[in-house]
Amino acid sequence: MSEKIIPDPEQGVESWIGLAEVAQDSEGERSELGAYAAIRPSNFDQFIGQKTIKDNLMLGCSAAAKRNEPLDHVLFHGPPGLGKTSLARIVAQDLGVGFKSTSGPVLERPGDLAAILSSLQERDVLFIDEIHRLPRALEEVLYPAMEDYHIDIIIGQGPAARTIKVELKPFTLIGATTRSGLLTSPLRDRFGIVLRLEFYSPNELQQIISRSADILGVVVTSDAAFEIARRSRGTPRIANRILKRVRDFAQERGSGAVDLATAREAVSALDVDARGLDRMDRNFLGMIIDRFNGGPVGIEAVAATLGEDRETLEEVYEPYLLQEGFIVRGRRGREVTALAYSHLQREAKSSANANLKLI
Ligand code: ADP
Repeated sequence: MSEKIIPDPEQGVESWIGLAEVAQDSEGERSELGAYAAIRPSNFDQFIGQKTIKDNLMLGCSAAAKRNEPLDHVLFHGPPGLGKTSLARIVAQDLGVGFKSTSGPVLERPGDLAAILSSLQERDVLFIDEIHRLPRALEEVLYPAMEDYHIDIIIGQGPAARTIKVELKPFTLIGATTRSGLLTSPLRDRFGIVLRLEFYSPNELQQIISRSADILGVVVTSDAAFEIARRSRGTPRIANRILKRVRDFAQERGSGAVDLATAREAVSALDVDARGLDRMDRNFLGMIIDRFNGGPVGIEAVAATLGEDRETLEEVYEPYLLQEGFIVRGRRGREVTALAYSHLQREAKSSANANLKLI
């Protein structure tokens, strides 16, 4: 994995994949061995931050357990790497039930989903990641499953076709999506608990980094942990990735321990700047300034100019740039703010942008 996030100066810009994009890379994370799996929080106590969400879930879990019923279906939405999968696992662990996990794009035929649903035991949790990418025909399998715990299987074709009703054990569906807006309303309406994960504060990320450092057996001073936290785009997955690269850096330097100077040097080598923006973020902002005079510009034009797909920009890059106030999004498209101009040390060109600069 390391070559995916370390920019190789020998190979130029093309070799670079932004850290933000790494936040999406749960596939890669699954392939990481031992230590990385241990970093994933496995109960509510270990899960740092997102207090309201945790309180909601803990209350729901304890009430459901007392009634001996499955927890209501839960939908998590928010940018990648914020802990949706971890929370789904924690819920199953807290309820003391089985956990099965799949994702929208890997399920192709209704039979695939029917097989998983009918294998669930009483009160089990079924986690569907990227649920907005579930094909429509499969969504229709989910409706009766979520509502009345049954599925309708059609056998045969044409006039001879008949429907068989298969009863399921009561279960909890936990869906995760980076794009709740893409979910159809009949599906969204069937979730009793809908929770939006927010970016983490530097203090919360500092705690996450210190915890991960303990698990990985690496000494990180608290100011170094805070430095990494500040540059992690509010995202635990990125914080953990940076921590691991910083650890390699410290180890190669011979000291082994990570102090503030080592953290700063390592993070700069990763081309993450003081506001936590990586090269792709800066390209995004710089391109809107240089090519579109600061905007407003449609996302399609941005995507075409950057050679990125629109989904990645919308799901991975924009949420953080919006939250941090580097861009604003209106009906006419994206526009960079005065903060972006000053961060990239650019002069505002048009009068509109000059106004923005004064904000
Ligand atoms: P998502 O499903 O939203 O993409 P994950 O649940 O896979 O995110 O989280 C990515 C990684 O970040 C996890 O493996 C875990 O190590 C770490 N992580 C996420 N949220 C937290 C948290 N609140 N506390 C500690 N670590 C976290």
